[in-house]
Amino acid sequence: MIIYGGKTVHLKSERSKTTTCPSCGTQGSLILSVYRVHAHVFWIPLFPIAKKGTSQCQHCKNVLKTKEMPESVKREYDNLKNNAKGPIWQFAGLGLIVVLITWGIYAGREDKKLALEYLVSPWVGDIYEYKIKTGSYSTLKVMSVSNDSVFVSPNEYEISRMSKIYKINTPKNYSESSYGISKNKLKEMYDSGEIFDINR
Ligand SMILES: [Zn+2]
Repeated sequence: MIIYGGKTVHLKSERSKTTTCPSCGTQGSLILSVYRVHAHVFWIPLFPIAKKGTSQCQHCKNVLKTKEMPESVKREYDNLKNNAKGPIWQFAGLGLIVVLITWGIYAGREDKKLALEYLVSPWVGDIYEYKIKTGSYSTLKVMSVSNDSVFVSPNEYEISRMSKIYKINTPKNYSESSYGISKNKLKEMYDSGEIFDINR
């Protein structure tokens, strides 16, 4: 179950000296308060949604929501609201999401860079992850390397989900026999996306 909702944080309160309370008519008795509401998931603040506020008369205790404020009070409230800065931590979740996405993009790029390095100078034991025409996925293991070719042992298993390919990558799944693929052909297979990742 995902627990989410809104939480209200008090930002600022100020006494309005010029306005009068519409309820009891006392001048300078209204305290204006501004709050900021943020969305939260599992009590982690995500981002602010809105500012809201009230006024309370210190004399008769009458509380007004923004909609109920007379125009003069509303004007002062709006002024206060525009100057009330909310705390940065109300953006914590959003910041975390941005960091995670940025990290994901960076990690993805590093992974691509490494794969290309592995492709150019293969090592025995490298694992090529590739697409099969049937839409499944499987792997090839590098058994030996010559000047212009790589000898691979095919995985005898395939799997329908790309993200689960690690499950079939165990030593006993690889065939006893191996065959050669030219380095040029490997590059072609990588460029076309047939080989989509290389792990070392
Ligand atoms: Zn009052």
